[in-house]
Order: sequence, then structure tokens, then C-alpha cells
Amino acid sequence: MANSKRSVAVVVRGPEAGTFLVVRRPDDPGDPLAGVWGLPAVTLADGEDERAAVVRAGRDKLGVELAPGARLGEANADRGEYALTLADYEAVITAGVPAVPQPDRSVTQYVEWRYTSDPAVLAEAAARGSLCAQIFLGRAEEVQRVAAFRARIGLDTLIDVHTHFMPERLLAAVRAYFDAAGPLIGRPWPIAYREDEQTRVATLRSFGVAAFTALLYPHKPGMARSLNEWGADFAARTPGCLHSATFFAEPSAAADVARALEQGARVFKCHLQVGRFDPNDPDLDAAWGLLAEAGVPVVTHCGSGPVAGPFTGPGPIERVLARYPRLRLVVAHLGMPEYAEFLTLAERYPGVLLDTTMAFTPFVEKGSPFPPSELPRLRDLGHRVLLGTDFPNIPYSYAEALEALERTGLGSDWLRAVCHDNAISLFEISSLSADRV
Ligand SMILES: [Zn+2]
Repeated sequence: MANSKRSVAVVVRGPEAGTFLVVRRPDDPGDPLAGVWGLPAVTLADGEDERAAVVRAGRDKLGVELAPGARLGEANADRGEYALTLADYEAVITAGVPAVPQPDRSVTQYVEWRYTSDPAVLAEAAARGSLCAQIFLGRAEEVQRVAAFRARIGLDTLIDVHTHFMPERLLAAVRAYFDAAGPLIGRPWPIAYREDEQTRVATLRSFGVAAFTALLYPHKPGMARSLNEWGADFAARTPGCLHSATFFAEPSAAADVARALEQGARVFKCHLQVGRFDPNDPDLDAAWGLLAEAGVPVVTHCGSGPVAGPFTGPGPIERVLARYPRLRLVVAHLGMPEYAEFLTLAERYPGVLLDTTMAFTPFVEKGSPFPPSELPRLRDLGHRVLLGTDFPNIPYSYAEALEALERTGLGSDWLRAVCHDNAISLFEISSLSADRV
């Protein structure tokens, strides 16, 4: 590559703790970041050092004096005509009040500015390739790997039907359980994504995930209703979240499901491995009936991985399907380790789908490999397979989960259906825009 360019972007700290300044770029049709919120940035002039460029960014783009602080990191990208190296710096304003646009039209001027404390504001820019936003979100290399995956298969956005968000106290308990490799897990499981909730949402969006779930699940009776209240609130305040709900085998199950459906739940989670209940428990009959009638998908952990439970495996859930054949059952984890049996179930019942959560990753392949002889059946069921990942509770990176799917060799058409199109039709998502799902 003939040319190279160096730039700096500035995280200008705001007057209130935790806030920083973001700017919106103009709607220039030639700019891949047009109209998107990002960080103020400049390209280094010949002979200029990075800290001097930070000061110039303050003067030329915001009309303020900046004092540069810590260098937060750098990232590289191949921009075709040139190789770009960009570094993020912290800075504080020592004089002046920001104003945009500034008069110097020889550089890109911004059309709006504001302070925010929400890193999610930068997620879209990161997803569209903005290095400064990727560095700020702390996962520059991974965001680029995910973007490269999307580009290889021809998708702008992904839909992930198996992600977990839950109340902080429950999340802390789940993390502690994974950290201790509790008996339902059975091996070390270092969770990769441990940031606060806003940052986890921003991370998903920086991967180009336009819609995702917030799968919650009770491990004992008496929890489902309050989890569902939290799930409704989370969906209402989180663009891109498909409103998620749950239930347990207890006398209130039908009422819990009915209430969640009334509140607008679009997907349910049923966890037979953690819940250790029989899906044919009479307490659940009316709940299954409501779900089958509503046609709302139920992501169900019914396989016997990572450790079998008393009601895991294809038998118990198949008896439910025999009674409620219209149920939109989504078999989590491709039913691992009983892959073949759950493929048979999907072939037998047209309402059954499978999610790919953790499948084909080296972590799972070590103990529960997907049998290569079953790949043709998985290919033929491609219209009923959905991307799932278990984000954030995974012991490897999100990019690794996607690359593992690619290694199946099932091809780009299959991957596009799995990672996007099938979920679009299942959830009747009409717009690709994350904030309108
Ligand atoms: Zn899960």
C-alpha cells in the first residue's frame, strides 16, 4: 500500500462524571459514517505529533482549548487508498465552550454535539468501521473480525436469538456460578464479557447485531413474574431488544405467560436443564397451549449439555410437541449433545427450529462434537436454524462463535439465512433498523 495516514480522536470528558462529548457527522452521501455520532477527530499534518493534533482538533473542530490526557489505544485499518492508524486520547476543556460547525471548511465539520454517558451512542459508528468508536468500546480487533465475517457472507446486520440480559443481582449470581464451574456446567468457564449492561448492549450493536433477545430463566418457583417485569422494562428501554419472558413449572405458569404475552413478549425462554422440571408437568399445560396458540417462539434448553438433567434429552419435549404440535419450539444449542435426535424432531415437526448457540466452537467440539455425517441434514433445515450465541456468558469471543459457524462449510446462503433472514421472518421484523424492531 502506497499511502498511510495517522489520525487522532478525542474523548473530551464532560463536566459530569462519566460523560464525554460526541459529535454528529454531516449527511454526506459519500461518507460511510454520514449522520452518525462519533468522536471528534483530525488527521495528523506532516511533522505534527499526536498530542499537538489533539489540541488542534479542539480548536479547529470544537472551538475550545483542550489539554490532552491519556492515550487510550490505537487501531489500524486498510482503507483501500491508504492504511489508517488511529489513536484515541482523553482530553479536558481548559477554555471555551464547544460549538459546531467551526469556520474551517478545509476539514470535516460536525453538525451537532452533546455530552452523553452512554457508550451505545458509538455502537453504530463502530459497526460501520469507525476505528475511534471501536477503540472506545474496547474491542477494536474483535469488532473488525465480526465486520469481516459479515462482509464475507454479505450481511449488514445480524440477529442473535440467544443472548442473555438479566437483573444485576441475578447476573452476578450466574457469573459466580460459572466462575466456580458449578455442577450444571462441569468445567472451567471464564466468561468473556463482564462489562456493565450499557456497555454489553453497545458491544452487541458494535458487532452489527440489529436485534437480540434478553433470555431470562428461573431456577426455582416464584421468580418468573418478577423476571418478566424486568424483561418488559429492559425491552422498553433497549432499542433492538426482542421483548423476552420466561416461566417455571408452578401453578402460576399460565398466568405468568398470559401476562407476559399481554405485555408484548415476542420470545420466551424455557430452561429444562437449570429448572430441572418436567415440561409435561400438568402445571404447564395451559402455558404451552397459550404459547402454541400465540405462535410465539420458545427458546428451550432441552438438550443434555453441558450436563444432563432429569428431563433433558429429546423424549420429554417431544411428548410436549405431540400434544401441542403448533408450538414454535426453538431447540437451543442445536440440542447438543443429542444433535441427531433433535434434527429428527425438527424434521418431524415443522414448527420446530434450532439455534446455533455455542455449536461448532472449539470449546464445545472438544467434548460434544457435531457429527460431520449430520451436516447435510443441518444444511437442508437451513430455513429453520437461527443464530444464537449465549452472549455475554461465553468463554471465548463473539467473533470466534461466528467463525465456527463458517467452518461448517455450509456456505454463505446458509449463513445469511441463519444469521439474519430466518429471524426476520420468524419475528416478523419489517425494518432492518435496530431502533425499530
Ligand atoms: Zn443460554
